Formats: sequence, structure tokens, C-alpha cells
Amino acid sequence: MWFHSCRSAVAAERADTVDRYARQTAFEKIGRTGQEKLLQSRVTILGLGALGTVIAESLCRAGVGRIRLVDRDLVELSNLQRQVLYTEEDARRESPKAVAAAEHLAEINSTVALEPLIADVNAANIEECIAGADLVLDGSDNFELRFLLNEACCKHTIPWIYGGAIAASGSSMNILPGGPCFRCLSPEMPAAGSYPTCSSAGVLNMVTGIVACFEAAEAVKILTGSPDVSRQYLSIDLWGNSVDYITVQKNPECPVCGKGEYGLLGKLSGAHTVSLCGQDAIQVIPGAGTKIDLEEFAAKLEKTGAVRRSPFMLTFNDGKASFNLFSDGRAIIRQMQDPGAAKSIYAEYIGL
Ligand SMILES: [Zn+2]
Repeated sequence: MWFHSCRSAVAAERADTVDRYARQTAFEKIGRTGQEKLLQSRVTILGLGALGTVIAESLCRAGVGRIRLVDRDLVELSNLQRQVLYTEEDARRESPKAVAAAEHLAEINSTVALEPLIADVNAANIEECIAGADLVLDGSDNFELRFLLNEACCKHTIPWIYGGAIAASGSSMNILPGGPCFRCLSPEMPAAGSYPTCSSAGVLNMVTGIVACFEAAEAVKILTGSPDVSRQYLSIDLWGNSVDYITVQKNPECPVCGKGEYGLLGKLSGAHTVSLCGQDAIQVIPGAGTKIDLEEFAAKLEKTGAVRRSPFMLTFNDGKASFNLFSDGRAIIRQMQDPGAAKSIYAEYIGL
């Protein structure tokens, strides 16, 4: 893994770190010792939307040594209101968020080893996504992934930081080995469609910024071994003028941190669909291990419609169907809200 191969980049720039991090090392709770720990740290950020971009920028500027950036999506114009790393040019080019984020972060701090990963995180690959990380940060937008992440991190004794935001409200909590874990906080997974999403209820960039900065600050505490790591659940309502810290009790009967049962992890699903929050699109994910030769596929699709190629994907439109196709077989079907119809398009044009 890339995490283990970039020591020289960090070492070569060590002389510059005194100047670069001067305002941070002057803060006595971090100091030179804490900075050294940050430089040696490895984090994974899952999701590079409103939360993930702020977290990534904060940790990159703070000098976290290695950052793996995981996201399945492409930059769109409607992202720019809150996803701070991206530009209109990224949206115009339809850059994968992981790649665009890595490009901008490399300009901010070239001494950080960045590992962009364009992937849908699921039961089949989550353990690979978090492998080697000292800490995982949640920049996702759905409970399914958080439940999965909770199991994976508990299993591998990796701390993770939950964060969520909707409308003008947000919340965050450190999930540390030993619990309480995310299942202690939320015992049952909410049914799909039963909770508001950023596309239905909207979300303010100020609240995502606050939650993400809270996550980043807790990350710095955890990575530097600070005794001041928060043990409570943060709940904030920017419009209602409230900030609350709530104590979450560990449930001794919790299947994850109490009993060590990881029922979601083993479930390697076949082809399935996921609605993309805030977009008129459905993602179709084929079974694990699918590989597509994009060059070959582009030549095939060009006979029926317009095809554009980038290093990471192809984009197709024939007036009836519009989609982006990645080399792992994943497709984002555009102008689509019906999962069944999305699967039909996938089967017709790509093949299940
Ligand atoms: Zn638990």
C-alpha cells in the first residue's frame, strides 16, 4: 500500500516543517512533539463532500503525513456551495472528487503523501480502504456506510470520527476502541427514506464547516495522543442557537463493541444500486471483482451514442441514456431516480 512507500518525501521536507507549522507548534498542547506525531500519522477520509473536503484541507495544512482520500463521485456545480476544495473548472471537467481533491491538496502542501481512491465503499472493500490507517474520518452522507465503518473499525481496533450535517444542524462523535460505538448511539439502522437528506432538506455550508472542523480538531487530538479527546456526542443547531454535549453510554449488549459481531462486513453483495444524495442519479455497482476495459467499451458505445473519455472513466449519452462508467464496472446513471430503471439501462448498455 502507498502508505508504506512515501517516507522519503516526508523526510526530505523535514527542514521546512519548522517554518510551515510554526503557528501550530507554538500552541503548547501540540508543540514539536505533537507535530512529529502528526507527520508520522496516516488517516483515511471516507467521502469528500462538504465534510470531507474541509477535513482533508485542515489535516493536510496541519501536516498529517499520509492521507487516503476515498470518494465515488464526480464534481458537479451544485457541490461548490459547500465542498470547499473544488472549482468550476473541476465541475466542467467532471473530475472525480478524489482526484480533484488530491490535486488541490498537493498545491497546498506538497509534503503530504496523498492517495486518491475512486471507489464506492461497501462491504467488499471497506477493510481495504481503512487498512494501515491510524484513524478514519467520516465524510459520508449515509447510515449504511457508517454502520459498516463502525464494524470495520471496531474489528481492526481503529478509532474513527462520526460526522453528519443536515439543514442547519450537525453532530459528531469520536468512536474509540472499546466503545461506546456508533451502534450504542444508534442501535438500529434507519430505514432508507425515513430520514431527511441534503437534497430534500438542504444543508448550510456553515454547519458542515463547523462539524468538519470539530472532526479535524478531534483528529489532531487523537493522533497526538492528547488526554483532551472528547468523550461526548456533539449536537449543534446553528439556526436554533444551541450547542449541546451529550454523554453516550456504552451498551454492554451492543452487538459490535459489546459482543464483537460484525454481521455486515461479510455480506459481499452482488449488483446493487444506490441513490446519490443531492443528485438526479442512481449508481449501479456490479458484483465484486468486476473489471472493464474502458478503451474497448468506448469503441463499442461510440456506435450508438456520444462517448467522452478521461483517464478515470467514460461518459456516454445517446439521448435516451446518460451515464459515467468506471473501470471497476461502477456506473452513475444520470437523470434517473428509479433504481429498477437504472439497472435496466445498465443491463442494456453495459451488461450485468
Ligand atoms: Zn457499541
